[in-house]
Amino acid sequence: MKIVIVGGVAAGMSAATRLRRLSEDARIVVLEAGEHVSFANCGLPYYAGGVIEDRDALLLQTPASLAARFRIDVRVRHRVTGVDADAHTVTVRDLATGEESVETYDRLVLSPGARPIVPPAPGMERALVLRDVADVDRIVAAIDGTGTDGTGSDGARATTTPGRVQPPARSAVVIGGGFVGVEVAENLVHRGLDVTLVELADQVLAPLDPEMAIRVQQELEAHGVHVRTSTQVSMLGPDAAELSSADGSPRGTVPADLVVAAIGVRPDVELAVLAGAQVGPRGGILVDQDLRTSVPDVYAVGDAATKRDALAPTGSAPGTAGDEPTTLIPLANLANRHGRHVADVILGRRSGMRPSMGTAVVGVFGLTAASVGRNEKRLQAEGRPYRAIHTHPAQHAGYYPGATQMALKLLVDPETDLILGAQGVGRDGVDKRIDVLATAMAGGLTASDLADLELAYAPAYGSAKDPVNMLGYVADNLRTGETRSVQWHELDTLVAQGATVVDVRTPGEHARGTVEVVGVAGGTALNVPLDELRDRAAAEIPSGAPVVVHCQVGQRGHTAARLLTQLGYDVHNLDGGYLTWRDGTRALRAAHDDELVPSGDPAA
Ligand SMILES: Cc1cc2nc3c(=O)[nH]c(=O)nc-3n(C[C@H](O)[C@H](O)[C@H](O)COP(=O)(O)OP(=O)(O)OC[C@H]3O[C@@H](n4cnc5c(N)ncnc54)[C@H](O)[C@@H]3O)c2cc1C
Repeated sequence: MKIVIVGGVAAGMSAATRLRRLSEDARIVVLEAGEHVSFANCGLPYYAGGVIEDRDALLLQTPASLAARFRIDVRVRHRVTGVDADAHTVTVRDLATGEESVETYDRLVLSPGARPIVPPAPGMERALVLRDVADVDRIVAAIDGTGTDGTGSDGARATTTPGRVQPPARSAVVIGGGFVGVEVAENLVHRGLDVTLVELADQVLAPLDPEMAIRVQQELEAHGVHVRTSTQVSMLGPDAAELSSADGSPRGTVPADLVVAAIGVRPDVELAVLAGAQVGPRGGILVDQDLRTSVPDVYAVGDAATKRDALAPTGSAPGTAGDEPTTLIPLANLANRHGRHVADVILGRRSGMRPSMGTAVVGVFGLTAASVGRNEKRLQAEGRPYRAIHTHPAQHAGYYPGATQMALKLLVDPETDLILGAQGVGRDGVDKRIDVLATAMAGGLTASDLADLELAYAPAYGSAKDPVNMLGYVADNLRTGETRSVQWHELDTLVAQGATVVDVRTPGEHARGTVEVVGVAGGTALNVPLDELRDRAAAEIPSGAPVVVHCQVGQRGHTAARLLTQLGYDVHNLDGGYLTWRDGTRALRAAHDDELVPSGDPAA
């Protein structure tokens, strides 16, 4: 069998090597338009920042090494320009010579990835993108001042004026505050540039909810990145960018020797369309659970292809060649798994790619942000019921040196108790918790089941009650009705309905910062420390109206809520305590005016 693979990086090369491991008989041809195969695109921002010093470290394989070990016919600088699905052929242009040839196939695997989106604005042709090694070379040349003509080998964008030597860049504008955008911003700071991060949405890192993402925004700002949310680039001059709000009102001009556009990617469906294959409702080559396109013997994998949506609401419109809703998730783990799966399918060994949840992690100046599944915004947009849980545990035992707090958020289906999504932001231990939660989700565990997970513990690594167990305790208390919670953004409504807000922390903690209670004398909560609550409640907390208790993170609040409930009060615990309320209200202020974001230690 002859298998032709278009695109030789994550998904394509995973498919090629797996095919060879399974079959010595298959003829495997990989056609790659770029200079390199199997390079580490996820490492590109770190090479730009000098964190990865050796460029060769990005180049994981070469055509020669792949031929030697796997007997794969890898041809770089060979672009596939056409597909004749009836004849089972592809047209290939050798980019070195310009010659065209025709290659036959028995099975065709499309893994062309995705193309970076560059926002439309005058002057934007000088913006760089970051997708491959040639792109990062252009960025490094701009930083070092060694760039003259940045035209890529594959006819990629010219990045500087041909023939004109550019001075080293001192300032940069990064357009887009997603995972790649924040990584690029951080790495440009490492190289000493004055960086402005421009994001059209009212927060960075869209997969996170605002009260979580604000910590990342503050971290960027604490390291000197000027974060401009609700803002776009309206025009690029030779060394500056004019900014405006979404409605076009001017928002100033910032220095921009270097501009990197990182607003996202669009699945590359060009060849699939030429082959006559169907495209999904949101773009992406439509594939079934075995990565087959709608055209016989043509498969699609990786960023270019749709994914089965593990978290689609029941009854959502089908989006695949047959059965179920699809989504787009341009991430490397999925691309690699797609590649392996398609090889198994082609050789008749396996069927049924597991649906995808979108598990992702990013580091920003030592702060980790990670997420899996749906966020609250998306659940609201889908009109789905959910329960939100916020906690602020330390990554390991508090008494062991180096303990730092993280913020975790869990979203739960109140009917089934299944986990719909999770998010985490913190200095240490976040990736581990999100991976455990992703595993629990994949295994169909309920939120309450998390309470019973048996997890590894020693003081340096976790707590006897791990943060994941704690999420399970809270979820179980909410499921059984043992506690009721109120979210940070619901507090004002409860207060307007006459609720009394009681801060059960110590007077010292109360004085250092407390929730604002609109419409109440003094504008703050009543402060009755937990240890005095039993004695003071009857005299100081009015009965007959709801009571909201809060502490720093929600844990003492839970004990207070249990006590007051047993004393006959109608009690809600402020979910995530003061810290979540503080982060949520900061995020709201930042969304309305990005200049107002307070700096300081976001993990405090
Ligand atoms: C800067 C950056 C950082 C990233 N960081 C992370 C991360 O930390 N974690 C994570 O999970 N994901 C990350 N990703 C995403 C991850 O790299 C992608 O999800 C993954 O590479 C997709 O694999 P793919 O094989 O589908 O596409 P790609 O790896 O993009 O490979 C597609 C290849 O196809 C070639 N091609 C396209 N058209 C043709 C044609 N007509 N003929 C021949 N060849 C063609 C292209 O030249 C390209 O080399 C990052 C991506 C970038 C760009």
